[in-house]
Amino acid sequence: MGRLLPKAELHVHIEGTLEPELVVGLARRNGVTLPADGVDGLRARYRFEGLQSFLDVLNANMAVLRTERDFYDMTLGYLRRARDNGVRRAEIFFDLQAHLARGVPMDAVFDGLAAAVADGERELGVSAALLLCIVRDRGPEEAERVLREAIRRHRDRFIGIGLASAELGHPPSLFREVYAIAAAEGLRRTVHAGEEGPPGYVREALDLLGAERIDHGIRAMEDPDLVARLRAERVPLTVCPLSNVRLGIVPSLREHPLPAMLRANLMVTVNSDNPAYVGGYAEDNYRALRDELGLDPTTLATIAANSFDAAFLDPETRARFQAELRTGAANG
Ligand SMILES: [Zn+2]
Repeated sequence: MGRLLPKAELHVHIEGTLEPELVVGLARRNGVTLPADGVDGLRARYRFEGLQSFLDVLNANMAVLRTERDFYDMTLGYLRRARDNGVRRAEIFFDLQAHLARGVPMDAVFDGLAAAVADGERELGVSAALLLCIVRDRGPEEAERVLREAIRRHRDRFIGIGLASAELGHPPSLFREVYAIAAAEGLRRTVHAGEEGPPGYVREALDLLGAERIDHGIRAMEDPDLVARLRAERVPLTVCPLSNVRLGIVPSLREHPLPAMLRANLMVTVNSDNPAYVGGYAEDNYRALRDELGLDPTTLATIAANSFDAAFLDPETRARFQAELRTGAANG
């Protein structure tokens, strides 16, 4: 077996990397009572029927995150697993609003995450950066207030923003002002759209929020004009196949639109989303595409190359990773 493809992971929520063992450990450390007993009890709850049922479990487990050290341990743990999955660059979402709502100080969140990102780079050789992820069902006013405060106090610690959580009924158009603030600050902008929501949400993300990447975007395939536009503009789509199956967004991997998206020449990347909950990390997704959908090595290398092209990297680092990928692909 050849070595792992070097790749960038562009769509991963740090709270979704909390493995049950760590949830139990942090609950003990912080004296938090969990909704289920032990690792097996937690895992038994990981049966999801759509996005909301997943979000309910995710949010319940998040209660164990209290201190800077918790955020550090979670993030460094993820970066170790990312490295073992061939990830050379990770752009990581974090749900700042959810932590503030539980009474965690903003500094604890940023200090823990930023320290892990720095140590991950130095000790593991994984390039990493943070994307502040707006929790869309908490509404635009809170998002605006929290973003302004994060910019004032921690601007150098995150490179951009995202928009996630419950999609239906919370269209991108509500967040124009939030994205205008981010754009004025030179922050990069991604938007979750077209996971459960309609293709029109993808258009709004592009036209009203200036999204540079669309997270998921699989429902764009229902709209041929939108597909043509995404192709012409080379809009990166951060697709998460195992997540889509586990959350019931698509019935099975065999019915996933990813092969059709590749045939349509869309700029597809493959990512884990919430790996501790949905059955796998980055390489697990690549492997599933190879083993269950029969994607060939050239196609998988193209997806990995897309991931470096779509990453928010400086040109030299991007070129270095692309060169690594070419060498790896030649040997593999
Ligand atoms: Zn996501």
